[in-house]
Amino acid sequence: MKPAAFEYHRPDTLDEALAILAERGDEAKALAGGQSLVPAMNFRLARPAVLVDLNRIPSLAYIAEAPDRGLHIGAMTRQRSTERSPLVAGRAPLLFEAMPWIAHPQIRNRGTVGGSLAHADPAAELPAVMVALDARLVLRGANGLRTIPAREFYTGLLSTALAPDELLTEIQVPPRPAGAGEAFMEVARRHGDFALVGVAVQLVLDQAGTCASVRIALLSVGEGPVSATGAMGELAGARIDPGRIEAAARTAAETDIDAPGDIHASAAYRRHLARVLVRRALATAAQRATRRRSAA
Ligand SMILES: Cc1cc2nc3c(=O)[nH]c(=O)nc-3n(C[C@H](O)[C@H](O)[C@H](O)COP(=O)(O)OP(=O)(O)OC[C@H]3O[C@@H](n4cnc5c(N)ncnc54)[C@H](O)[C@@H]3O)c2cc1C
Repeated sequence: MKPAAFEYHRPDTLDEALAILAERGDEAKALAGGQSLVPAMNFRLARPAVLVDLNRIPSLAYIAEAPDRGLHIGAMTRQRSTERSPLVAGRAPLLFEAMPWIAHPQIRNRGTVGGSLAHADPAAELPAVMVALDARLVLRGANGLRTIPAREFYTGLLSTALAPDELLTEIQVPPRPAGAGEAFMEVARRHGDFALVGVAVQLVLDQAGTCASVRIALLSVGEGPVSATGAMGELAGARIDPGRIEAAARTAAETDIDAPGDIHASAAYRRHLARVLVRRALATAAQRATRRRSAA
Protein backbone atom coordinates (compact mmCIF):
# COMPACT_ATOMS: atom_id res chain seq x y z
CA MET A 1 0.00 0.00 0.00
CA LYS A 2 1.03 3.59 -0.49
CA PRO A 3 0.20 6.42 1.91
CA ALA A 4 -2.45 9.02 1.16
CA ALA A 5 -1.00 12.26 -0.23
CA PHE A 6 0.62 14.54 2.33
CA GLU A 7 2.55 17.79 2.51
CA TYR A 8 6.15 17.31 3.60
CA HIS A 9 8.23 19.74 5.68
CA ARG A 10 11.83 19.23 6.74
CA PRO A 11 12.71 22.03 9.16
CA ASP A 12 16.31 22.62 10.27
CA THR A 13 15.45 23.93 13.71
CA LEU A 14 13.09 23.07 16.54
CA ASP A 15 11.50 26.53 16.38
CA GLU A 16 10.62 26.03 12.70
CA ALA A 17 9.10 22.63 13.48
CA LEU A 18 7.04 24.07 16.32
CA ALA A 19 5.86 26.95 14.11
CA ILE A 20 4.53 24.49 11.50
CA LEU A 21 2.78 22.45 14.19
CA ALA A 22 1.29 25.61 15.70
CA GLU A 23 -0.07 26.62 12.30
CA ARG A 24 -1.34 23.24 11.12
CA GLY A 25 -2.56 21.83 14.46
CA ASP A 26 -3.94 18.28 14.37
CA GLU A 27 -3.60 18.04 10.57
CA ALA A 28 0.15 17.64 11.16
CA LYS A 29 2.28 14.84 12.57
CA ALA A 30 5.93 14.68 13.50
CA LEU A 31 8.05 12.15 11.63
CA ALA A 32 10.85 10.68 13.75
CA GLY A 33 12.28 7.26 12.78
CA GLY A 34 9.12 6.45 10.81
CA GLN A 35 9.12 2.86 12.07
CA SER A 36 5.56 3.09 13.40
CA LEU A 37 4.17 6.10 11.54
CA VAL A 38 5.16 5.09 8.01
CA PRO A 39 3.63 1.57 8.20
CA ALA A 40 0.47 3.11 9.71
CA MET A 41 0.34 5.61 6.80
CA ASN A 42 0.94 2.87 4.26
CA PHE A 43 -1.99 0.92 5.68
CA ARG A 44 -4.00 4.17 5.75
CA LEU A 45 -4.47 3.80 9.49
CA ALA A 46 -2.90 7.27 9.76
CA ARG A 47 -3.58 10.01 7.21
CA PRO A 48 -1.77 13.14 8.35
CA ALA A 49 -2.17 15.97 5.84
CA VAL A 50 1.22 17.37 6.87
CA LEU A 51 4.42 15.60 7.92
CA VAL A 52 7.03 17.50 9.91
CA ASP A 53 10.27 15.56 9.54
CA LEU A 54 12.47 16.00 12.64
CA ASN A 55 15.48 14.18 11.20
CA ARG A 56 17.37 17.35 10.19
CA ILE A 57 17.25 18.91 13.66
CA PRO A 58 20.59 17.90 15.22
CA SER A 59 19.83 19.58 18.55
CA LEU A 60 17.24 16.85 19.30
CA ALA A 61 19.69 13.91 19.27
CA TYR A 62 22.04 13.55 22.27
CA ILE A 63 22.71 11.54 25.40
CA ALA A 64 24.18 13.75 28.11
CA GLU A 65 25.02 13.43 31.76
CA ALA A 66 22.85 15.80 33.80
CA PRO A 67 24.37 17.96 36.58
CA ASP A 68 22.68 15.66 39.17
CA ARG A 69 24.33 12.62 37.46
CA GLY A 70 21.10 11.57 35.85
CA LEU A 71 20.71 11.42 32.07
CA HIS A 72 19.21 13.75 29.54
CA ILE A 73 18.26 12.07 26.26
CA GLY A 74 17.15 14.03 23.21
CA ALA A 75 13.90 12.74 21.71
CA MET A 76 15.51 12.05 18.29
CA THR A 77 18.26 9.86 19.76
CA ARG A 78 18.19 6.59 17.84
CA GLN A 79 17.34 3.50 19.83
CA ARG A 80 20.55 1.91 18.53
CA SER A 81 22.71 4.76 19.92
CA THR A 82 21.04 4.33 23.29
CA GLU A 83 21.70 0.61 23.23
CA ARG A 84 25.40 1.25 22.55
CA SER A 85 25.95 4.12 24.96
CA PRO A 86 28.39 3.52 27.85
CA LEU A 87 26.74 6.46 29.62
CA VAL A 88 23.35 4.73 29.47
CA ALA A 89 24.94 1.44 30.61
CA GLY A 90 26.46 3.13 33.64
CA ARG A 91 23.74 5.59 34.62
CA ALA A 92 20.55 3.79 33.59
CA PRO A 93 21.18 0.04 33.48
CA LEU A 94 17.44 -0.69 33.31
CA LEU A 95 17.14 1.27 30.07
CA PHE A 96 20.30 -0.37 28.75
CA GLU A 97 18.97 -3.85 29.53
CA ALA A 98 15.62 -3.17 27.84
CA MET A 99 16.94 -1.73 24.55
CA PRO A 100 17.81 -5.00 22.73
CA TRP A 101 14.27 -6.25 23.36
CA ILE A 102 12.85 -3.59 21.05
CA ALA A 103 12.17 -5.03 17.60
CA HIS A 104 15.28 -5.80 15.51
CA PRO A 105 18.58 -3.93 14.97
CA GLN A 106 17.42 -2.57 11.59
CA ILE A 107 14.40 -0.98 13.24
CA ARG A 108 16.43 0.33 16.18
CA ASN A 109 18.86 1.95 13.69
CA ARG A 110 16.07 4.33 12.63
CA GLY A 111 13.59 4.20 15.53
CA THR A 112 14.02 6.93 18.13
CA VAL A 113 13.58 6.98 21.88
CA GLY A 114 11.13 9.88 21.65
CA GLY A 115 9.19 8.28 18.79
CA SER A 116 8.61 5.13 20.80
CA LEU A 117 7.49 7.11 23.86
CA ALA A 118 5.20 9.39 21.84
CA HIS A 119 3.69 6.53 19.85
CA ALA A 120 2.54 4.98 23.15
CA ASP A 121 2.10 1.41 22.01
CA PRO A 122 0.95 -0.56 25.07
CA ALA A 123 3.37 -3.35 24.09
CA ALA A 124 6.39 -1.02 23.80
CA GLU A 125 9.28 -1.43 26.20
CA LEU A 126 10.36 2.19 26.64
CA PRO A 127 7.17 3.63 28.20
CA ALA A 128 7.29 1.00 30.99
CA VAL A 129 11.02 1.56 31.49
CA MET A 130 10.55 5.32 31.81
CA VAL A 131 7.73 4.85 34.32
CA ALA A 132 9.89 2.44 36.36
CA LEU A 133 12.77 4.95 36.29
CA ASP A 134 10.44 7.81 37.26
CA ALA A 135 11.70 9.73 34.22
CA ARG A 136 10.37 13.15 33.30
CA LEU A 137 9.42 14.12 29.78
CA VAL A 138 9.99 17.59 28.38
CA LEU A 139 7.24 18.77 26.00
CA ARG A 140 7.68 21.93 23.94
CA GLY A 141 5.09 23.93 22.07
CA ALA A 142 5.19 27.31 20.38
CA ASN A 143 4.07 28.81 23.69
CA GLY A 144 6.72 27.27 25.90
CA LEU A 145 7.81 24.19 27.74
CA ARG A 146 6.37 21.84 30.33
CA THR A 147 7.86 18.82 32.06
CA ILE A 148 5.71 15.93 33.24
CA PRO A 149 6.44 12.58 34.88
CA ALA A 150 6.34 9.63 32.46
CA ARG A 151 3.55 8.02 34.53
CA GLU A 152 1.29 11.01 33.77
CA PHE A 153 2.16 11.12 30.07
CA TYR A 154 0.08 8.08 29.12
CA THR A 155 -3.63 8.81 28.98
CA GLY A 156 -5.13 5.79 27.17
CA LEU A 157 -4.63 3.49 24.22
CA LEU A 158 -2.04 5.11 21.89
CA SER A 159 -2.79 8.41 23.65
CA THR A 160 -0.55 10.80 25.49
CA ALA A 161 -0.63 14.20 27.15
CA LEU A 162 1.00 15.75 24.04
CA ALA A 163 -1.08 18.56 22.53
CA PRO A 164 -1.23 18.64 18.69
CA ASP A 165 1.16 21.60 18.62
CA GLU A 166 3.70 20.06 21.02
CA LEU A 167 6.77 17.90 20.55
CA LEU A 168 8.44 15.63 23.02
CA THR A 169 11.97 17.03 23.06
CA GLU A 170 13.83 15.45 25.97
CA ILE A 171 13.68 12.56 28.41
CA GLN A 172 15.18 13.21 31.84
CA VAL A 173 16.21 10.11 33.77
CA PRO A 174 16.91 10.82 37.45
CA PRO A 175 20.21 9.76 39.02
CA ARG A 176 20.40 6.12 39.97
CA PRO A 177 19.71 5.84 43.72
CA ALA A 178 22.34 4.24 45.97
CA GLY A 179 21.26 0.66 46.70
CA ALA A 180 19.25 0.33 43.49
CA GLY A 181 18.95 -2.91 41.54
CA GLU A 182 17.01 -3.17 38.32
CA ALA A 183 15.67 -5.82 35.97
CA PHE A 184 13.85 -5.89 32.65
CA MET A 185 12.20 -9.10 31.43
CA GLU A 186 9.67 -10.00 28.77
CA VAL A 187 8.20 -12.93 26.91
CA ALA A 188 7.62 -12.67 23.16
CA ARG A 189 6.80 -15.47 20.74
CA ARG A 190 10.02 -14.77 18.83
CA HIS A 191 12.83 -12.42 19.78
CA GLY A 192 12.04 -9.06 18.19
CA ASP A 193 8.26 -9.52 18.27
CA PHE A 194 6.20 -7.25 20.47
CA ALA A 195 6.07 -8.68 23.99
CA LEU A 196 3.11 -10.74 25.21
CA VAL A 197 3.98 -9.35 28.64
CA GLY A 198 7.01 -7.49 29.96
CA VAL A 199 8.09 -5.91 33.21
CA ALA A 200 10.54 -3.21 34.30
CA VAL A 201 11.59 -3.05 37.96
CA GLN A 202 13.70 -0.66 39.95
CA LEU A 203 14.13 -1.73 43.57
CA VAL A 204 16.14 0.18 46.18
CA LEU A 205 17.35 -1.71 49.23
CA ASP A 206 18.78 -0.12 52.37
CA GLN A 207 21.72 -1.57 54.35
CA ALA A 208 19.42 -3.95 56.24
CA GLY A 209 17.90 -5.40 53.04
CA THR A 210 14.65 -3.50 53.52
CA CYS A 211 12.89 -2.04 50.52
CA ALA A 212 13.47 1.73 50.56
CA SER A 213 11.52 2.20 47.31
CA VAL A 214 10.28 0.14 44.39
CA ARG A 215 8.68 0.77 41.03
CA ILE A 216 7.19 -2.01 38.92
CA ALA A 217 5.81 -1.17 35.47
CA LEU A 218 4.30 -3.73 33.11
CA LEU A 219 3.77 -3.62 29.36
CA SER A 220 1.23 -5.37 27.15
CA VAL A 221 -1.26 -5.77 29.97
CA GLY A 222 -3.37 -2.62 29.54
CA GLU A 223 -3.84 0.50 27.45
CA GLY A 224 -0.37 1.82 28.31
CA PRO A 225 2.36 1.10 30.83
CA VAL A 226 0.71 -0.21 34.01
CA SER A 227 2.20 0.40 37.46
CA ALA A 228 1.72 -2.51 39.86
CA THR A 229 0.66 -0.20 42.66
CA GLY A 230 -0.67 -2.88 45.02
CA ALA A 231 2.52 -4.92 44.76
CA MET A 232 4.64 -1.80 45.21
CA GLY A 233 2.67 -0.92 48.36
CA GLU A 234 3.24 -4.39 49.81
CA LEU A 235 6.98 -4.22 49.23
CA ALA A 236 7.66 -0.66 50.40
CA GLY A 237 9.34 -0.71 53.81
CA ALA A 238 9.32 -4.54 53.95
CA ARG A 239 12.24 -6.95 54.20
CA ILE A 240 12.66 -8.52 50.79
CA ASP A 241 12.64 -12.32 50.83
CA PRO A 242 11.29 -14.97 48.43
CA GLY A 243 7.93 -15.19 50.23
CA ARG A 244 7.39 -11.43 50.05
CA ILE A 245 8.39 -11.41 46.37
CA GLU A 246 5.98 -14.26 45.56
CA ALA A 247 3.11 -12.48 47.33
CA ALA A 248 3.83 -9.22 45.51
CA ALA A 249 3.97 -11.01 42.15
CA ARG A 250 0.55 -12.55 42.90
CA THR A 251 -0.89 -9.13 43.74
CA ALA A 252 0.59 -7.64 40.57
CA ALA A 253 -0.93 -10.36 38.37
CA GLU A 254 -4.28 -10.80 40.12
CA THR A 255 -5.13 -7.30 41.37
CA ASP A 256 -3.00 -4.64 39.70
CA ILE A 257 -3.55 -5.54 36.06
CA ASP A 258 -6.59 -6.20 33.93
CA ALA A 259 -4.79 -8.01 31.14
CA PRO A 260 -6.57 -8.20 27.78
CA GLY A 261 -6.98 -11.45 25.83
CA ASP A 262 -6.38 -11.33 22.06
CA ILE A 263 -5.18 -13.48 19.18
CA HIS A 264 -1.66 -13.51 20.65
CA ALA A 265 -2.44 -14.61 24.22
CA SER A 266 -5.47 -15.20 26.45
CA ALA A 267 -6.03 -12.95 29.45
CA ALA A 268 -5.30 -15.91 31.75
CA TYR A 269 -1.98 -16.60 30.04
CA ARG A 270 -1.00 -12.94 30.30
CA ARG A 271 -1.77 -13.02 34.05
CA HIS A 272 0.35 -16.15 34.39
CA LEU A 273 3.23 -14.49 32.53
CA ALA A 274 2.89 -11.33 34.62
CA ARG A 275 3.14 -13.30 37.84
CA VAL A 276 6.22 -15.24 36.72
CA LEU A 277 7.96 -12.21 35.22
CA VAL A 278 7.31 -9.92 38.20
CA ARG A 279 8.60 -12.60 40.57
CA ARG A 280 11.76 -13.17 38.53
CA ALA A 281 12.40 -9.49 37.89
CA LEU A 282 12.01 -8.62 41.57
CA ALA A 283 14.34 -11.46 42.60
CA THR A 284 16.95 -10.38 40.05
CA ALA A 285 16.67 -6.70 41.00
CA ALA A 286 17.05 -7.62 44.70
CA GLN A 287 20.15 -9.73 43.97
CA ARG A 288 21.71 -6.92 41.95
CA ALA A 289 20.93 -4.36 44.65
CA THR A 290 22.48 -6.58 47.31
CA ARG A 291 25.58 -7.23 45.20
CA ARG A 292 25.97 -3.52 44.58
CA ARG A 293 25.64 -2.73 48.29
CA SER A 294 28.30 -5.34 49.14
CA ALA A 295 30.67 -4.02 46.47
CA ALA A 296 30.29 -0.37 47.65
C1 LIG B 1 8.48 -4.87 12.54
C2 LIG B 1 8.48 -3.92 13.72
C3 LIG B 1 8.62 -4.44 14.98
C4 LIG B 1 8.61 -3.58 16.08
N1 LIG B 1 8.75 -4.11 17.33
C5 LIG B 1 8.77 -3.29 18.40
C6 LIG B 1 8.96 -3.79 19.71
O1 LIG B 1 9.13 -5.01 19.94
N2 LIG B 1 8.93 -2.91 20.74
C7 LIG B 1 8.74 -1.57 20.54
O2 LIG B 1 8.72 -0.82 21.52
N3 LIG B 1 8.60 -1.06 19.31
C8 LIG B 1 8.61 -1.88 18.24
N4 LIG B 1 8.47 -1.34 16.98
C9 LIG B 1 8.28 0.11 16.87
C10 LIG B 1 9.62 0.85 16.85
O3 LIG B 1 10.24 0.78 18.11
C11 LIG B 1 9.44 2.32 16.50
O4 LIG B 1 10.70 2.82 16.27
C12 LIG B 1 8.80 3.24 17.54
O5 LIG B 1 7.59 2.78 18.02
C13 LIG B 1 8.47 4.59 16.94
O6 LIG B 1 9.63 5.33 16.89
P1 LIG B 1 9.97 6.16 15.59
O7 LIG B 1 11.11 7.02 15.94
O8 LIG B 1 10.11 5.24 14.43
O9 LIG B 1 8.65 7.09 15.46
P2 LIG B 1 7.70 7.39 14.22
O10 LIG B 1 7.20 6.14 13.63
O11 LIG B 1 8.33 8.37 13.31
O12 LIG B 1 6.51 8.14 15.01
C14 LIG B 1 5.63 7.42 15.84
C15 LIG B 1 4.57 8.39 16.39
O13 LIG B 1 5.16 9.26 17.37
C16 LIG B 1 5.03 10.63 16.96
N5 LIG B 1 6.30 11.27 17.31
C17 LIG B 1 7.53 10.83 17.01
N6 LIG B 1 8.47 11.60 17.58
C18 LIG B 1 7.80 12.57 18.25
C19 LIG B 1 8.22 13.66 19.06
N7 LIG B 1 9.51 13.91 19.30
N8 LIG B 1 7.27 14.43 19.62
C20 LIG B 1 5.95 14.19 19.39
N9 LIG B 1 5.51 13.14 18.65
C21 LIG B 1 6.41 12.36 18.08
C22 LIG B 1 4.77 10.60 15.46
O14 LIG B 1 4.06 11.75 15.03
C23 LIG B 1 3.96 9.32 15.34
O15 LIG B 1 2.62 9.56 15.69
C24 LIG B 1 8.48 -2.17 15.88
C25 LIG B 1 8.36 -1.65 14.59
C26 LIG B 1 8.36 -2.51 13.50
C27 LIG B 1 8.24 -1.92 12.13
